[in-house]
Amino acid sequence: MSNRRLVVGNWKMNPGTLAEAKKIARKVKRAAAGLEKTEVVICPPFTFVAAVKPRQKSKNFALGAQSVSVEEGVGAHTGEVSAAMLSDIGAEFAIVGHSEQRKKGDTDEMVAQRLKAALDGGLTPIVCVGETVRDKAGAYMEGLKDQIKNSLALAPKIAAKNIIIAYEPVWAIGAKEPMVADQIYETSIFVKKAFADIFGSANGLKVRVLYGGAVNFRNAYEIMTAGKVDGLLVGRESVNTPGFIELLKAVDRI
Ligand code: PEP
Repeated sequence: MSNRRLVVGNWKMNPGTLAEAKKIARKVKRAAAGLEKTEVVICPPFTFVAAVKPRQKSKNFALGAQSVSVEEGVGAHTGEVSAAMLSDIGAEFAIVGHSEQRKKGDTDEMVAQRLKAALDGGLTPIVCVGETVRDKAGAYMEGLKDQIKNSLALAPKIAAKNIIIAYEPVWAIGAKEPMVADQIYETSIFVKKAFADIFGSANGLKVRVLYGGAVNFRNAYEIMTAGKVDGLLVGRESVNTPGFIELLKAVDRI
């Protein structure tokens, strides 16, 4: 995929059946083909990835996974799915470090291992970072910086161009309203700066930073334009097919 605006749909544990998954994917794929400046990645549950893969390469459309095992190769790792397995069935991206996984126990160190496994297995990692609360004094900024540094700790500099950051303030995920756009802008610059501190300024300028948290078809345009991010990570609205298609069109209009 090229360096254009990117919308990632995190389906989470939805929908309930394979038939519904196929239906959503088919509609999103068709809508993506009509876009001019936007690329779309959908991240269904593991079990649906292979089944929703288009038979032929589809314009502006790719598949991702919602996580990836820290284990590489094959072996006695019950319940795990490796990056190479996901790549083999058609995934090109993997979300790592989503706050819902972090809440279940993923530490920054584990996120770093997942990220490395994704890169080694040929997937583009979408690394989620974000503060759980914001304080007026801005102390959360230090925590965010550490989270970025630690989550990227195992990535070699040469891989920097293959890493995407999703800035998702945890308090905005599943919320009614997203973060206000000028704060998104401010924080995305901070994220790029933290990335530059690790991988150098050229990589900091190039890294794609997405925003996630309560994005829908009504607010996507404003978040993209005033928030000046490179794309969006969308949860709930990504399985509301008409809303998601409207959102894609809104992003493509910019
Ligand atoms: C998410 O879970 O990554 C997310 C952004 O969720 P929502 O869009 O539903 O807030």
